[in-house]
Amino acid sequence: MTLARFFSTRLTPKALSNSLIGFIALVCLLLILATVWQIQQSANERVDAAKVSVSNIVIAAEQLARDTMLQADNTLQDIAERVAHDGIGAEQQSRMTTLLARQVERIDGLQGLFIFDAKGNWVANSFSQGVQTKNNSDRDYFIFHRDNTTQAIHIGSIVQSRTTGDLIIPISRRIESPDGSFAGVALATIPVSYFQNFFSRVDINNDGVIFLALDKGELLARRPTVTALMTTNLSKGEIFTRYLPHSDSGTAIIKSVVDGVERIYAYRRLSGLPIIAAAGISYQQVFAPWWSYVAQSLAVLGVIILALALLGGLLYRQIQQLLIAERELNAAQNKLEIIAMTDSLTSLANRRSYDSALKKEWARALRNQSSLAVILLDIDWFKQYNDHYGHLLGDDCLVEVAALIARNVSRPFDIAARYGGEEFVILLPETELAGAIVVAEKVRLSIEQARIQHSASALGIVTISAGVVAVYPTDKNSHRGSMAEADRLLYCAKIKGRNCIEAAAFHRDPSVICH
Ligand code: GH3
Ligand code: MG
Ligand code: MG
Repeated sequence: MTLARFFSTRLTPKALSNSLIGFIALVCLLLILATVWQIQQSANERVDAAKVSVSNIVIAAEQLARDTMLQADNTLQDIAERVAHDGIGAEQQSRMTTLLARQVERIDGLQGLFIFDAKGNWVANSFSQGVQTKNNSDRDYFIFHRDNTTQAIHIGSIVQSRTTGDLIIPISRRIESPDGSFAGVALATIPVSYFQNFFSRVDINNDGVIFLALDKGELLARRPTVTALMTTNLSKGEIFTRYLPHSDSGTAIIKSVVDGVERIYAYRRLSGLPIIAAAGISYQQVFAPWWSYVAQSLAVLGVIILALALLGGLLYRQIQQLLIAERELNAAQNKLEIIAMTDSLTSLANRRSYDSALKKEWARALRNQSSLAVILLDIDWFKQYNDHYGHLLGDDCLVEVAALIARNVSRPFDIAARYGGEEFVILLPETELAGAIVVAEKVRLSIEQARIQHSASALGIVTISAGVVAVYPTDKNSHRGSMAEADRLLYCAKIKGRNCIEAAAFHRDPSVICH
């Protein structure tokens, strides 16, 4: 089908209403799909934006931690070298104390610097000139350096400072004697609050979290602060168990082991340091504006679908009314056709109907090489009937005779019609002369047996005469001739005395035969 034909095809109202419902359903479906896709896209964009945002926070936290730790470590390295080289006698102690205090002032984030001897006794620190009689041999970092010869930086878990009472992160190095034996520990302390102050300035939502932790899971600093900061261990959390073993940095959507809040996290292992930096934005807060966007989108979608449904409903109703109007028009047309083809007095087919049926059946008989029969009937002495009984009773008689004719014409394609006045005609397709004579005789006899009173007739009852022809048509236009022959045979029957039939068969074009 070409496009032009497609567009010029006239749809029936039913097809039109089905197409309308289909079209509106399709538009609604596409709208729903587009909205769902858009909502999904916006959710993805929100998650992506949140990931970028937390990754940046983590990079900033990492930078700060790295700078602070490495600066502290450089200082510790200097101190360790100096002590290893110069020793730490009474003279060095006071010089060292001044040096340590100056270093603490110079380096941002440093709370204190300490030197312990091989027994853990305080040798020098950045807080006071005098050497205090305290011993730190019980601290983890001291035990670590005493028992390990490694020269690497050691970052310990949070401890409470014996000097200030603050929570501090200890960063330490082993001091060795020139012979390589353990000579003590150089310690730098960074207050937890240094990182927490930085975290508090970062723009992150209320449910957001930022933390630094040792790679063994111990927390070093966290926003928001937890009361059990020193004892909180994250090693069982998903970042440590599931993500860090595979990648040193990345993002993940997980539930916090500390507060149970689901967040979009970014994490990062600090290169060269046993520290993990991570930040997370609450999933709920990331999606809070998204939900209002979803609500707005769904509301707009709902309004559009409602408007489409209303419009569709309106059009559907109009089409239904069109459908009803068309049905009524068809019914009226059928009625008119029936009226146009029916004789109003007798309810038989009328002359027009008969003529068109004859033409059709004639052509068919010609095609099929079959016989077609016509019976032309005329009521005997009907003029006298009218004169005697009056025109109205004459009409009643015509109705009665018509009913008797119709009763004897029963095959589906047989047609009985009023030919005009008191003349009737019966068309019998696919019928030989013998069969037609049987029908004509049956009709004649049934009218005779009806014994309709006719005092003006010689017989005293209404009778009919008939001319019967059966033809094998040879020419498509010769049906008029066959009617003329039937009329002529009828005339013959009248001459013969009436209440009888005259018949003739034709295998070619009809010619006049009178028995
Ligand atoms: P025949 O036996 O030779 O046929 O005699 P006839 O009187 O029937 O002759 P004719 O055919 O000349 O008469 C037909 C009459 O039928 C004329 C008319 O008064 C009557 N007639 C025709 N149409 C109607 C009709 O619709 N109603 C009534 N009541 N009479 C009609
Ligand atoms: Mg007549
Ligand atoms: Mg007559």
